[in-house]
Amino acid sequence: MNLVVLTGAGISAESGVPTFRASDGLWEGHRIEEVATPEGFAANPALVQDFYNKRRRQLAEVQPNLAHHALAELAARWEGDFLLVTQNVDDLHDRAHALVPPAPGFQLIHMHGELLKAHCTVTGRVIDCPGDLDPRHDSPFSPDGWLRPHIVWFGEMPLAMHVIDAAISQADLFVSIGTSGAVYPAAGFVQDARRAGARTVEINLEPTQGAGLFDDGLYGPATETVPAFVDSLLQSASKG
Ligand code: NAD
Repeated sequence: MNLVVLTGAGISAESGVPTFRASDGLWEGHRIEEVATPEGFAANPALVQDFYNKRRRQLAEVQPNLAHHALAELAARWEGDFLLVTQNVDDLHDRAHALVPPAPGFQLIHMHGELLKAHCTVTGRVIDCPGDLDPRHDSPFSPDGWLRPHIVWFGEMPLAMHVIDAAISQADLFVSIGTSGAVYPAAGFVQDARRAGARTVEINLEPTQGAGLFDDGLYGPATETVPAFVDSLLQSASKG
């Protein structure tokens, strides 16, 4: 059975990473136009680099939670293909999966980029970025380029869309966890999965605006709902 799981900021909320639109449409006190668009970066590179420097440093203070660990356990035991697509730029899935080696059919994609990477504004080449970036940070790849956060900003193309589209077109089960369904193209994955004939499940604190597009919904904190869902999925897979 082929599985695609989409995660959003809600899965990391109980680790202490604030979500995005939850209350006021601000991301950690900033308007998204300021800190999550190419225009914002061009207008004020110091503000944008500082914003992501703070987010990057915040990662040292948080840990994967029971929901990340449950998905890592699922990845270790799942016998079909399993694509985990996250909109999150934190590394909490990566850290959970590092503890339990995944089965060969597993792949993790950060479709909106990663805080712990940077890329060159001229060549697009990606480099590990564990520390702070300066406002105009010299790129090792081009004398005319700067290093910027490896984050997909609004108006930019999400990463690895061909891999994601291919997996969804083959999916038997599509699960959306902790995402508001407000940011496209991820918000459209459930419709693609339905067209492919997949069963669709939403897991969230509360039903989202798109809840009606899902066959089933499981509502409550991710640290409770995700481990319970994974247990029942592994049980039914072992019977079937
Ligand atoms: P969102 O903030 O728009 O929505 C969060 C969703 O999570 C909501 O539907 C909310 O009901 C749900 N939620 C909150 N707490 C939960 C919990 N404990 N258990 C289960 N569900 C919970 O997030 P989004 O849909 O991922 O879109 C935000 C965008 O901002 C993403 O594209 C992402 O790149 C970026 N972002 C990333 C992070 C991160 O990396 N952790 C954090 C904030 C924003």
